[in-house]
Amino acid sequence: MNESDGRVASAPEDAAQPGATQKRRSRRFDTLVVHGGESRAGAKGSGGPEERPPHFPMSTPIHASTTFSHADAETSDRILGGEEDGFGYARWGNPTVAAFEKALSELESPSGEARAVAVASGMSAMHAALTASELSDGACVLVAEQIYGSTVTLLLQIFAPMGVEVRFFDATDPEDLRRKLDSLRPRAVVAETISNPLLRVADIEAMSRATREHGAALIVDNTFGTPFIQRPLDLGADLVVHSATKYLAGHGDLTAGVVVAAPPYDGAVEQIRKTVGYVVDPFGAWLALRGLKTLPLRLARQCENARAVAGALLDHPGVSAVHHPALPDHPDRRITERLLSDTGGLVSFELLSGDREAAFAFLNALDLCVRAPSLGDIYTIASHPTSASHRELPPSRRERIGITEGLIRISCGIEHPEDIVADLRSALDSLHR
Ligand SMILES: *Cc1c(COP(=O)(O)O)cnc(C)c1O
Repeated sequence: MNESDGRVASAPEDAAQPGATQKRRSRRFDTLVVHGGESRAGAKGSGGPEERPPHFPMSTPIHASTTFSHADAETSDRILGGEEDGFGYARWGNPTVAAFEKALSELESPSGEARAVAVASGMSAMHAALTASELSDGACVLVAEQIYGSTVTLLLQIFAPMGVEVRFFDATDPEDLRRKLDSLRPRAVVAETISNPLLRVADIEAMSRATREHGAALIVDNTFGTPFIQRPLDLGADLVVHSATKYLAGHGDLTAGVVVAAPPYDGAVEQIRKTVGYVVDPFGAWLALRGLKTLPLRLARQCENARAVAGALLDHPGVSAVHHPALPDHPDRRITERLLSDTGGLVSFELLSGDREAAFAFLNALDLCVRAPSLGDIYTIASHPTSASHRELPPSRRERIGITEGLIRISCGIEHPEDIVADLRSALDSLHR
């Protein structure tokens, strides 16, 4: 398998300034996120003064070309054979896509060990990560019960018919994982940093210790966390998956995904994307790269807003339960303090009159908060998990993991917290009028 086709291993400035990579790695997250991936071709250090153009773009251009021509046939041969860095055909690699990947790999894997591969959606990222774990006929995948609904569908509808055994474990019970690792010997274990919609926090550190002992690949969907809140690879995970559609891009205008894979899975993920063809297009990669630059600003505000919303909901007589990792009675309070740098932008809660009619009436009474089946945007979004994100789950499974008809999930945006709280309060009040 050729692992280096169509991809630039290092930005031009690295070659000109050997200390540049070292210097960059010591920079802080908020700085890396702004400059990550931008090669600034033509900038100081990218060549002798005679080669330097009088201007160069601040922002990575959108390279809309599907194909790259080379100086001569010999160069082409070397680039296509992976002996020389460069691009050939856009399904294999594209400079705009590579810029986003470089930025994200610096954020998720500051050691530089892992490689980010950008794809067309979060689901294609999960598909690539699962495929890279070599799930042959008879192999077992152990999946957290609390996982994103479409990940379950992917496993049951695409992988199970190929002979992959799909089994579930309780991600909130470390003993359950150990027992099942022993008895089922899975090839891969799949979990999420912060679960949807009940916001349980997984002990990724303990999970990776256990999976490592058993030689299984640990795949962590870090969509709800983002590298701003947790870096699962640093805690021992093997593959990190993102729906970049959510916090990474953050503006509700892009569908994209990314896998960040540590060795030995990195080459396989790239080969799978290249062969299956679910590449993100150059404009999508550009939007993702631009959105990423404000991730710490957006997410810090979203976390702050979520704490304000959780506090206000707790005080409301129309709410019977609030789920949020910052609350003192949250069951994973200690894992949160140990492993997360902030508590996330989501809150979920149960209406006192816990039926679907009340949930719909509440959603319909919202004025500022948007009713939509997504999260991680700059806009505050309210959704009803049983009729949206978790509608494909059988009711018995929903019930077992505690997703009720009266449950509402709020993904806090970056609006003023008092406006968000006022809208939620007024919708709650309207139910009891
Ligand atoms: C949205 C989401 C996905 C799927 O991402 P798409 O970009 O919609 O394909 C996967 N996992 C989680 C946790 C998500 O929220």
